[in-house]
Amino acid sequence: MTRLIFLGPPGAGKGTQAQQVAELAGIPHISTGEILREAIAEQSDLGQRASSYVDKGELVPDDLILDLIKDRLSHEDTQSGWILDGFPRNVNQAQFLDQLLAQLNQQADIAVNFAVTDQVLIERMLARGRKDDNEETITRRLQVYREQTAPVLHYYEERNELQSVDGDRSVEEVTVSLRAFLNL
Ligand code: AMP
Repeated sequence: MTRLIFLGPPGAGKGTQAQQVAELAGIPHISTGEILREAIAEQSDLGQRASSYVDKGELVPDDLILDLIKDRLSHEDTQSGWILDGFPRNVNQAQFLDQLLAQLNQQADIAVNFAVTDQVLIERMLARGRKDDNEETITRRLQVYREQTAPVLHYYEERNELQSVDGDRSVEEVTVSLRAFLNL
């Protein structure tokens, strides 16, 4: 049973690593950013309500995200475990997740913090070329991360549920250290 929360700034490599670990462990990779991008492409109700926030690098309002995560974690495929990537993004979302998991009779194993220097983050995001990977939005996303998401690290650290990984290294090196402490 593997239940993991991947935290860290935008461009830290959470998504890439989550994909690898999800495949190795045979569990779903749940990326709220990816779900939002799909909803925006499909122009669904969620997509229409979320797009202006995503484009500006702001967090999408909690009421949209919390419903989404509740639905996703109620799917059958999450019984064998999951990796959350990009959620929780603020302390309110972390508290909601605690309540939701208690209702589901589940518990997260660990939160993993991908620590990466700003310079590397910016280089990676510019190389990625997503619509919200332009210089102005990147600056805002890093600011939003510091203000709203970084406190989530302390939330898990205080409970001794946080493991930090040096994410400045190559994809392969980061995967090796992740596999080591996750016993995968
Ligand atoms: P990501 O792919 O995780 O970098 O997310 C891309 C964008 O989606 C973010 O800049 C936010 O606008 C939005 N987003 C993703 N996850 C969340 C979340 N948990 N809460 C609020 N907004 C989110």
